[in-house]
Amino acid sequence: MYDIDAIRRDFPILARQVNGKPLVYLDNGASAQKPQVVIDAVTQAYSLEYANVHRGLHTLSTIATEKYEAVRGTVARFLNASNPNNVIFTSGTTEAINLVSYAWAAPRFAAGDEIVLTVLEHHANIVPWHFLRERQGVVLKWVECDANGAVDPQAVIDAIGPRTRLVAVTQMSNVTGTRVDVAAICAGARQKGVPVLVDGSQGAVHGPVDVQAIGCDFYAITGHKLYGPSGSGALYVAPERMGELRPFLGGGDMIETVTRDTVTYARPPLMLEAGTPSIVSQTGFGAALTYLMGVGMPAIAEHEAALRDYARQEFSKRNWVKVQGDTPDKGAIFSFTLDGAAHAHDISTVLDQRGIAVRAGTHCALPLLQHLGVGATCRASFGMYNTTDDVDALMSGLDLCRDLFG
Ligand code: PLP
Repeated sequence: MYDIDAIRRDFPILARQVNGKPLVYLDNGASAQKPQVVIDAVTQAYSLEYANVHRGLHTLSTIATEKYEAVRGTVARFLNASNPNNVIFTSGTTEAINLVSYAWAAPRFAAGDEIVLTVLEHHANIVPWHFLRERQGVVLKWVECDANGAVDPQAVIDAIGPRTRLVAVTQMSNVTGTRVDVAAICAGARQKGVPVLVDGSQGAVHGPVDVQAIGCDFYAITGHKLYGPSGSGALYVAPERMGELRPFLGGGDMIETVTRDTVTYARPPLMLEAGTPSIVSQTGFGAALTYLMGVGMPAIAEHEAALRDYARQEFSKRNWVKVQGDTPDKGAIFSFTLDGAAHAHDISTVLDQRGIAVRAGTHCALPLLQHLGVGATCRASFGMYNTTDDVDALMSGLDLCRDLFG
């Protein structure tokens, strides 16, 4: 059974008040709160086990290295990757996608080669490809979503032409919560011989992930949305792609030897992890993933689906709230505007006065908002510790906004 009270007790921040009201944290899409086990892992790492990794033979360095390297295995288990060495540590999804762009795509793509994207993408899965467009003449091909925010996987597959070298697609929109059938896209792309990068920033938070079943070539996750520390994350690279990566950042730890005239590189994943990494953040990330696997991702998905359905029902009672995009299986992420003049920032400020944290803005997804024909929206994004009481608090906050702004 999903013991929501016990789960809430695991997150100390949920006991605090904001502006004199109990915190209702609905900004999980931006970053999630941390359970005590993560805070403890970080505290222990700094208080008792801190040293640089991969460098020293002394006791603390050995402990730090063992703990840090063990996280690779934890990430592999979380994603069902067959080998921990297919996991490259990154500071988050942004770095992971930039890594694919610099270390894999840039040396291989020529002018006129195409990358297929959907209009749902976060800027982190757009701008690195714009770099290739600007610098190398790569062409970006866009697949639209329908009025409900849905992307037809067949439309993505059909967009793959003879010059397509990569499909880069999100598993879940951070704006509308739309799920994309990335497994179907990977199957179709594979038949056409085209690799697929999946942005799992949101998708991995809201349900179980199996990169082998998805059949993707690259899968990026970010630790701070997975209830871990900021500055942590990972890129899964399929075995057949691993040998195709070229060095990205140069520096310590990624080399085998360096002379005045030559350099040879360590094998991946270390070749892609130059310099002192986010040692403690990754250690905390491992604790977060272990915690999530302990609760069970299927159970979290079920809990959030119930919250989504309840929130959808409550939104639908308020015809003056316009929710952007709705598909039956979407994640519990709702971006909305209110009829009338109220700006998203004003709504967010009123909600904040009641202790309710939502995001207001354009959510690093300007092409999607342009496609939907909206400017700034408010976004309520639910996580594993949210409850129907949180939905009720949001709704009564919105009712107040309606009274205030007309
Ligand atoms: N992709 C999606 C879908 C996101 O929601 C986010 C963060 O909001 C990112 C990528 C970027 O993640 P990060 O800033 O942690 O690198």
